[in-house]
Amino acid sequence: MKHDPANAIFDLKQFGEYGDVNPSITDSATYTFMQAKTMTDTFHGETQGCFLYSRHWNPSNKYLADALAAMEGTEEGWVTASGMGAITSAILQLCKSGDHIVSSMTTYGGTFAFMSNYLPRFNIETTFVDITNPEAVRKAMKPNTRMIYTETMTNPLLQVSDIPALAAIADEHGAKLVVDNTFTPMIVAPAKLGAHIVVYSLTKFINGKNDCVAGAICGSRDFIGSLIDVNTGTAMLLGPVLDPMRSSSILKNLHTLHIRMQQHSKNAAYLAGKLNAAGLKAVYPGLENHSGHEVMKRIMNPEFGFGGMLAIDLVTADRAGRFMELMEMHDVGYLAVSLGYFKTLFSNSGKSTSSEVPEDVQKEMGLSEGLIRYSVGLDHDIERTWKRIEHCLVQMEIINA
Ligand code: PLP
Repeated sequence: MKHDPANAIFDLKQFGEYGDVNPSITDSATYTFMQAKTMTDTFHGETQGCFLYSRHWNPSNKYLADALAAMEGTEEGWVTASGMGAITSAILQLCKSGDHIVSSMTTYGGTFAFMSNYLPRFNIETTFVDITNPEAVRKAMKPNTRMIYTETMTNPLLQVSDIPALAAIADEHGAKLVVDNTFTPMIVAPAKLGAHIVVYSLTKFINGKNDCVAGAICGSRDFIGSLIDVNTGTAMLLGPVLDPMRSSSILKNLHTLHIRMQQHSKNAAYLAGKLNAAGLKAVYPGLENHSGHEVMKRIMNPEFGFGGMLAIDLVTADRAGRFMELMEMHDVGYLAVSLGYFKTLFSNSGKSTSSEVPEDVQKEMGLSEGLIRYSVGLDHDIERTWKRIEHCLVQMEIINA
């Protein structure tokens, strides 16, 4: 039977201590035992269902991690204090000194910076490739390649990764495919398409409220177990643990994700169509002219649409800046980084979330300095929003009245 991420969450039965419909919040760092031996056994991972210390596991975090694992169809999950906490923990758990990574050239700027500037300190080398070209990926593989890294829909160019093809390359070479699914929760379930590990910034669509920063790692029981091993686990030893209060609120927001993703997608598709018709060459994977449209159709759960992200190119950073200021003034949304919020957010990627990527690499990957990335909100009346954008386009003389 086809994996349905929304049904998997709907069917969860997670109750609180007194039968509360929402799981109780465990507001404790440590846990008491009646017998010393049980504590020793728990420390060595030999006791099921016992909690020891909240950097290792906290029940509130476990509820959220279990819900995310259900959504992804993986055996287990673990939640972190940020998306970068999830990404860096997963990578450092997989790779050691002397290992090699093949990564999409377009990734979130922080991930790019971690691989290109930070990992060399540990003698871990990364080759950046055009992830939409499987031949380029295959050619970049080396005997010591431990991991292929990509984003389902890349930030900010919205390229689409052919996850089954990348998983096949990883398997052929005994490497792991790690996929950041931050832009496309519900829409794509990477582990069901062959990815070995799925990482998230929960900060974005999954939480959807822009009131916290959080992340998650989903994968096999063995991998999650290795992450929190008391002697060698990256997550246990570096400690990027999420606060249980936040886990509890993110879990509640997760239960409305399927409806929100449909509305984000519906609104983004509407704006992409209008922008395109106005001659602005919108970049949106739902448009037939998008290079990843066919791959997207093959890997997506169609009922959730093509996502809430779209981009347009105003060629220069100056024009992009002026246009964004106008849109903010005319209540289209907010000039802000990040995404997945109920209000529309827009930013100039090359000068913000991808500014860690050197300018020559930005050029090589085709990232224009005038690119505006939109995270389209949950607007009730998207036609009205389009009229506001249209008004700004006319004022900037980008289109005629
Ligand atoms: N992955 C993607 C695709 C992102 O856009 C971001 C944005 O910040 C991150 C990861 C990092 O997540 P966080 O800010 O929660 O650490």
